[in-house]
Amino acid sequence: MANKIQMKNPIVEMDGDEMTKIIWQLIKDELICPHVELKSEYYDLSLQNRDATNDQVTVDSANATLKHGVAVKCATITPNAQRMTEYKLKEMWKSPNGTIRAILDGTVFRAPIIVKGIEPLVGNWKKPITIGRHAYGDMYRNVEAKAAAGSKAELCITDKNGNVTKQLIHEFPDYAEGEGIVQAIHNTDISICSFARACFGFALDTKQDLWFSTKDTISKTYDHHFKDLYAEIYEKEYKTKFEAAGIEYFYTLIDDAVARVMRSEGGYIWACKNYDGDVMSDMVATAFGSLGMMTSVLVSPNGAFEYEAAHGTVTRHYYKHLKGEETSTNSVATIYAWTGALKKRGELDSLTELVEFAQRLEKATVDTIEDGIMTGDLYVISSLADKRKVTTQEFIKEVAQRL
Ligand code: NAP
Ligand code: MG
Repeated sequence: MANKIQMKNPIVEMDGDEMTKIIWQLIKDELICPHVELKSEYYDLSLQNRDATNDQVTVDSANATLKHGVAVKCATITPNAQRMTEYKLKEMWKSPNGTIRAILDGTVFRAPIIVKGIEPLVGNWKKPITIGRHAYGDMYRNVEAKAAAGSKAELCITDKNGNVTKQLIHEFPDYAEGEGIVQAIHNTDISICSFARACFGFALDTKQDLWFSTKDTISKTYDHHFKDLYAEIYEKEYKTKFEAAGIEYFYTLIDDAVARVMRSEGGYIWACKNYDGDVMSDMVATAFGSLGMMTSVLVSPNGAFEYEAAHGTVTRHYYKHLKGEETSTNSVATIYAWTGALKKRGELDSLTELVEFAQRLEKATVDTIEDGIMTGDLYVISSLADKRKVTTQEFIKEVAQRL
């Protein structure tokens, strides 16, 4: 193609593993590179290369994201015991997403891609519901223990001068089945404030209302503190901007939020504490149709954005592919990771052409599915009368034609 779109600044490209690595190359070859002179800083986050570099490549890719501001990431294997043998690893390397999140310190937003024919299980949901999950602390950094019958558990804080405050958690009675369990959790104002700013900023960016919910009526110090910090930041930093953008911030108890979400038509961001976001995003993803249609973006308070698909490397399909069998793996969320990154790059660099290209690619993808051409995961749930199941490669070719 003669007139390819030129880019000003690079995006950080984090390649990955298995079936999604195959899809990655197809998307670049068939959908992006024919139209865009792709400027990317490439990092190979495949498990083999993480092992070869002692995981330094993951750290480097995250630092590059801080530098360039925009990254697109392919799904990667988080090794477990079985992968240690399969890939003959030196070490059980940590989850790359965990490492990247720790460096970028961000909030993860997940939103479904909505197409005709794939109707949400909740009939009144018409627009996407985006979940913003706080990705630090609470149960995920807990300390827990078993307490024997007859023991006493206390919450003890020693300040910097050595002063100790103690509160009784529970006295476990000394009789049969008197024993029990104890858990301590924490969070920090820095992390909660950056979570709040990421959510307010993302709401402004996408012009959607922001909902936030906790269990502050029961957790009068802990959850209430989240509520207070959100309120303070909203008043000081975002209220005027929200009013100017015609969007709303609204706090409610998590029970009420759950009930309202089910009755709503969607079209807002729901900020959730770590555990709530973990569980609710699985529920929302399932109710919207398929994991293959769920996008994910990590928004860092330092102004960096990392786009990816919410699903993993689709191992089961990859083993079929290795045996030479046909696969029908959904590439939509990975395509949207690319369009998300290209759009953001275009916005930051004032490159309208790049933004419009990304929008055309999204439209071509949606049009393909709405024309009845889809991968197996969608084929079984689509309500279209006229539909055809295609392979991984055929789907991308169909998108390329429409593009
Ligand atoms: P997965 O890769 O998300 O796949 C689980 C199942 O969901 C698949 O077997 C498939 O079901 C279905 N599925 C997911 N994505 C699909 C798609 N794009 N198209 C069609 N079907 C899709 O999760 P997993 O099997 O638990 O994990 C595999 C590897 O991915 C693991 O090594 C894990 O560490 C890694 N992982 C990485 C990330 C990440 O990098 N962000 C996230 C999660 C998991 P059927 O088999 O029924 O067709
Ligand atoms: Mg979960």
